[in-house]
Formats: sequence, structure tokens, C-alpha cells
Amino acid sequence: MKLWVLYRQRELGENVLAKVKALAREAADKLGRRPVIMEVCGTHTVALGRTGLRSLLADYLDLRSGPGCPVCVTAPEDIDYMLLLARQPDVVVATFGDMLRVPGSYGSLEQARAEGSQVQVCYSPREAVELAKSYPDKTVVFLGIGFETTAPAVALALKEAITEKLKNFLLYSAHKLVPPALSLLASDPELGLDGFILPGHVSAILGRQAFIFLAEKYNLPAAIAGFEPLDILGALMELLPLILRREAQVINAYPRVVTETGNQKAQKILEEIFSPHSANWRGLGIIPESGLKLKACYQDFEARERYPLEVRPSPPPAGCRCGAILKGLSLPPECPLFGRRCTPLTPVGPCMVSSEGSCAAYYRYSQNI
Ligand code: SF4
Repeated sequence: MKLWVLYRQRELGENVLAKVKALAREAADKLGRRPVIMEVCGTHTVALGRTGLRSLLADYLDLRSGPGCPVCVTAPEDIDYMLLLARQPDVVVATFGDMLRVPGSYGSLEQARAEGSQVQVCYSPREAVELAKSYPDKTVVFLGIGFETTAPAVALALKEAITEKLKNFLLYSAHKLVPPALSLLASDPELGLDGFILPGHVSAILGRQAFIFLAEKYNLPAAIAGFEPLDILGALMELLPLILRREAQVINAYPRVVTETGNQKAQKILEEIFSPHSANWRGLGIIPESGLKLKACYQDFEARERYPLEVRPSPPPAGCRCGAILKGLSLPPECPLFGRRCTPLTPVGPCMVSSEGSCAAYYRYSQNI
């Protein structure tokens, strides 16, 4: 039997769901409102929609989606920089497929490609290194996005480029770190969070201990969750009693993947190649120590060093509420453009572009909401 089948068992799921509902009702009675819980990871946002759990729990929990979609949190200025870069005749821009359709001030990378710019989709950072080898007369710039999960693979790709003595491979790092964003959200009284469902993938890299600060500093409970229905329900079974008892703890409800201290090798390669810096997040603004930039000794591979292009601050697409949605202040259907002018085929903002974006997930699974 495949392992995931165990976590999709219908009868068991229905039993646990009933228990979660009962706990949520009890917590709601105590709080005088539904408990507000944020799922921080885009994969959880999709899983909650795909499995129908978001709609099944809607009367019991106020589930908010957070800034866990890497495409969505990439700042407009980063996209504008890549658009300017794509116009350089000697440059090939390489990035993940979802980034191509995200609108910037001067269009999208997809449009730039249609107009003749060299923009290539890569399924892994290593492919960008291969591209650099096959375009020796061009400079390949890889736009690295994502969190602690994707950054190690980008760091390894850079090491490979160094080993291969490639001078035409550069990196534009728009990588983000999850714990500083959680600090910002945990301390925001407007959000009024009662707890977090923490991202299983990022936790696999960082370990449970990286999130203990939520309990110690912000007095908030949290549960690390996997992505199958019983994983999520199991995390809620752990989280809701904590909310009921007003007890702040960080529970690892995904122990088959997440350890206390995480993946040491991945952490080591991140420390070797990158250092934290203040990064600009779409919707959340500049958060101290929340991004990864190349260390000083790797500046020869830094795109901004070789191409110091000036990018002006860019306003969000007119009418788009991605900022408020990424912060958990709004839900996608509250955006007046949702499902009307903005659909996955005609996205106005990044939250509708990415498969992990909240708006795309709500749209795709709207019959389940
Ligand atoms: Fe932006 Fe579209 Fe989402 Fe509205 S529905 S917030 S326009 S991405």
C-alpha cells in the first residue's frame, strides 16, 4: 500500500473531521468567535481547497492563507528588474515556469519572450547551469525564487557553475525566509491570529526548533503539518486544544518528515552561499533579515553587480488585492476582480498566476468553498 493512501482514508478522515469540528466549536464558544488560523504554505492552501477541507471547516474555523506562495511574494521590483534584464541583448533569463506570467510594470516575462527576449523556463536550477554551457556567448541569469526549500538547490547549482568555471552564469536571488515573515504576522494585531499551521516542506529543512519563537516570543501555538487530508486534520487536532487552553507550543504533527533540527546539509549549503538581508515582500513590505543574498565572496555571480539596472518602485496592478490576501487580511472572493476580470486565464495579479496562489486555489476549487 502506498503511504499516502493511509492519510486519505475516508472513514478515519470523517471521524477525525468530526473531532476537529467539536474542538473548533468548543474553542469558538470560549473565544466568542471562530478561531483564526493561518496556513502559511501555498501547498496547504491548495490542499485545503482540493480536499474540500476549507469548505467543510468554514463554519468552524476562520482559515486564512498566508504568504506561502513563492511566486506571489516576489516583489514587483524584482520582476521589473528581470524584465529590464531580459531586454539586454547578451542575456538569457532563466526561471521557473510560474514566473513567466506574473505581471510587472513593463508587462511579463512571457510577453518579453514573445517580443524576442531570451527567456527560458527551467524545471530545476541545474538546468540553468546547463543553459549557460550551451550559450557560451550569452550570460544566463537565473531568477531564484522560493523559500528555504528551493534555495539549497540554487546554492548547489551555483557551486556547480563555480566548479565548471562558468563565467556566464549569474544569479538574481529573490529567495525569502519564512520565520521573519511569521514574526511580522504574529505581531500584527489587525490579523488577530490564534495559531499557525506551519509549512511541512520548510520545516523539513529548518526543523521544529526554528519555529519555537512563535510560542516563546508571541505566545502563539502552531502545528507543523503534512499535506494529506489526515495530516492537516491531525495538525488541527493538536492545535485546537492548545488554542482552547491558551497554551503556546509548537507541535510537530508531521514527524515522518520533520525532525527537531531539520536538514543539516541543506542548512549548511545555505549558510555557505547566502547571507540574510532585508527583503521586500509583495504585500508585506520590507522585512528585516528575511531574504537571501549571495555572500560577498560570490559577488562575481551576482546579477545586480554585473547589470546595475535602475528599477523604480512599482504600484500593484490596478484593483488587485494580492497584498491584503498575502497578509491574510482578505480572502480571494472579497476582491472585486476575482473570477470576473481576474481568472487563471486572464490573471491580473500573481496570486491568480501561480498554481499555489490563494486566488488560483480558491478559483480552481471554488465548488469546494
Ligand atoms: Fe489580484 Fe486577481 Fe487575486 Fe484580485 S483575484 S487579488 S486581482 S490576483
